[in-house]
Amino acid sequence: MVTTKEQNSMETFEKHESQVRSYSRSFPKVFHKAKGYKIWDTDGKEYIDFFAGAGALNYGHNNDKMKEKIVEYIMEDGISHSLDMGTVVRGKFLEKFSDVILKPRKLDYKVMFPGPTGTNTVESALKIARKVTGRTNIVSFTNAFHGMTLGSLSVTGNSFNRDGAGVPLNNTVAMPYDTFMEDHSSIDYFKQYLSNTGSGLDLPAAVILETVQGEGGINAASFEWLQEIEKLCRRYEMLLIIDDVQAGCGRTGTFFSFEPAGIEPDIVCLSKSIGGYGLPMAITLIKPKYDVWGPGEHNGTFRGNSMAIVAATEALSYWENNDLADSVKEKSKVIQARFEKIVRDYPELKGTTRGRGFMRGIACGEGKEDYAGKICETAFEKGLIIETAGPSSEVVKFLGALTIDHEGLNKGLDILEEAIEEVLNH
Ligand code: PMP
Repeated sequence: MVTTKEQNSMETFEKHESQVRSYSRSFPKVFHKAKGYKIWDTDGKEYIDFFAGAGALNYGHNNDKMKEKIVEYIMEDGISHSLDMGTVVRGKFLEKFSDVILKPRKLDYKVMFPGPTGTNTVESALKIARKVTGRTNIVSFTNAFHGMTLGSLSVTGNSFNRDGAGVPLNNTVAMPYDTFMEDHSSIDYFKQYLSNTGSGLDLPAAVILETVQGEGGINAASFEWLQEIEKLCRRYEMLLIIDDVQAGCGRTGTFFSFEPAGIEPDIVCLSKSIGGYGLPMAITLIKPKYDVWGPGEHNGTFRGNSMAIVAATEALSYWENNDLADSVKEKSKVIQARFEKIVRDYPELKGTTRGRGFMRGIACGEGKEDYAGKICETAFEKGLIIETAGPSSEVVKFLGALTIDHEGLNKGLDILEEAIEEVLNH
């Protein structure tokens, strides 16, 4: 594709687009082409993508199989917009999701299509939990990220994001996440709040959590902690909502991030990579007994994006056997080993490694928080797209496509190490 000088410049965005833009500041180039784990800017420079659309591109950019299905569907004049009317493709998706994902895991959920983004599924989950229990409080956790609309923002930890609400964010209580207290005593703290009748905590409708906190700094909860949380939910009749918007769809090595913990949430939120091709889509999984919605009680115009549903159905083929899951497990060992080596080889970073599967980070230690941003900036100059996470943006966050091959993975890790070396002036 030939582009003009104007199209290659960031000036247009600075001139016309709101100050709110963020990624175009971190990665100040104009991009126009992408394939698999690679992305190119208009100067023809190639980048390895360790960001994967913030987790919306688990199967890589422009996945061939999904592209073929979408193009075929468009060329046949398939229904593109349908609200929640019955369409052939929606039916196919529901059948395949049940056969490939739910049944083999012995899970029983009704599938709700909320609006097409992560925050939409979270909003629907909070609403249904309150409706089911008749309670108002929702317990969330420190450093949680659940979205930017008022309900999901009310269960999000980050104060910069919360301040943007402009109204009080009520009816929620934040408890310490597993990794928040160094001695891992957070579960006892939560238990005491629930059991002590003087705690001031009105019994909550639900507990919402990410099994690995993405935006909050790649904090991975232990399976024991998750099991304890589930027990508390059962004892106090609170619904357990797992926000798998970022950690789901294979990101941690299993389709749902909570599988290895052996827990069974009442509600599961999925978005980002459920649409497979980077197209907007979200679903909320609800245990049948809690599916007490009245028809249309929660709705939205864009709940039936057929192109996303077509891609989503094809994406489920990756879960018909264990190939992808096995390769994620194998490659995640490579990432972890490399991160551990980096932390050992560069003690000035005061770094620690974090995460699970393909959701991993290097947290730069106290006094070195600003290194993460510098490392990502330098990596970008060297042809790697990678971002930071955490309350002080202190974590270098790996979120590559699950389909990346060893060559791409190692090349990206090499660039990352070169960037670290440069920032530390070795
Ligand atoms: N939940 C989690 C765990 C997320 O990571 C995100 C997005 N980063 C959201 C919800 C919100 O998703 P969206 O930006 O699509 O509204």
